[in-house]
Amino acid sequence: MIRYEDLHQANKNFFQAFRENFNLVLESGRFILGEQVRKFEFDFAKYHNILHCIGVASGLDALTLSLKALALDAGSEIIVPSNTYIATILAIVHAGLKPVLVEPDVNTYNLDPSKVEDAISAKTKAIMVVHLYGRCCEMDEIQKLCRQYHFLLIEDCAQSHGAKYKNQLSGTFGQCAGFSFYPTKNLGCLGDGGAVLCKDEKIADIIRSLRNYGSSEKYNNEYAGYNSRLDELQAAFLQVKLKALDQINAHKRKLAALYLNHLGKDFIRPVTDPDHFDVYHIFAIRHPARNELREYLLRNGIETEVHYPIPPHHQKALKTFFNNSSFPISELIHNTILSLPCSFAHTEENIYQVIQIINNFKK
Ligand SMILES: *Cc1c(COP(=O)(O)O)cnc(C)c1O
Repeated sequence: MIRYEDLHQANKNFFQAFRENFNLVLESGRFILGEQVRKFEFDFAKYHNILHCIGVASGLDALTLSLKALALDAGSEIIVPSNTYIATILAIVHAGLKPVLVEPDVNTYNLDPSKVEDAISAKTKAIMVVHLYGRCCEMDEIQKLCRQYHFLLIEDCAQSHGAKYKNQLSGTFGQCAGFSFYPTKNLGCLGDGGAVLCKDEKIADIIRSLRNYGSSEKYNNEYAGYNSRLDELQAAFLQVKLKALDQINAHKRKLAALYLNHLGKDFIRPVTDPDHFDVYHIFAIRHPARNELREYLLRNGIETEVHYPIPPHHQKALKTFFNNSSFPISELIHNTILSLPCSFAHTEENIYQVIQIINNFKK
């Protein structure tokens, strides 16, 4: 059996270092916003060569608090890809703003810059890009649109830790970038966690305050804030993982290269090009008989996943926003996409096994 994900195996190399850092926190007696959070924030900012990093409780909160801190008028419209994970859109909704869906490019699965202009209205204030599956969006075109229309740019980097476009790291393009450290992400902790990267000191200060009840000075509350702090223990574990991030990404890229070189032509493979350094949070292929293929693989001992089975505009929770609208490219992707095993826990052997079995699939 080749599992899609094995978090025990993926973290095993780090157990000793985790235990040492756990002991540091235990001995410190400081369990909320202590030395470990401060250190991780410093290291994560430094990795990106960005001035400010604010650790928060999750990726969803990183995006929500970013949007709150940018203080856009209620009901402002935010352009967002129609095939993202629902959390991106929930952040917009929770911040009292209106998500406006734009279709992705059918090959890259990322927001199609050529479709943005049709979605602009007088209320449009920002573009929220999602570097889906670990591949950066077409940032030259997107930044050009932002300059032309004076839009803010927010990046959802929950799947793109360490990914680059033209040698520039994801999370360094926009006013704010939200990261998730959910255990399965390329940089994953041992529970929930997230962070915001931010270039502007004033915005960073507001987010820092919002995560802590809207208070930057004890018992003095400037904003109606939240309790959304990165946990001290998770920050201690994340320091271990951050040191290994480039190694984890290199491993996933090596496995992805095997698929790219050996998968049969019937399977639509992710695109690659020299401008993009992709980190394959998810290695997604497409096939018209996706469900049959998935069952065939499972019968042959290979677990896969679907990211994602239901598009946001068909979710009951978002019905009031997207009633009756149709996004055919997004729907096509949702109906044909399949995620193959490609994690830090997998060996090259595992991937050769998957390739051998999948290439024998007869529809
Ligand atoms: C995982 C994910 C999120 C949410 O992160 P959490 O830490 O689980 O809240 C947001 N956006 C995308 C694209 C994600 O994959």
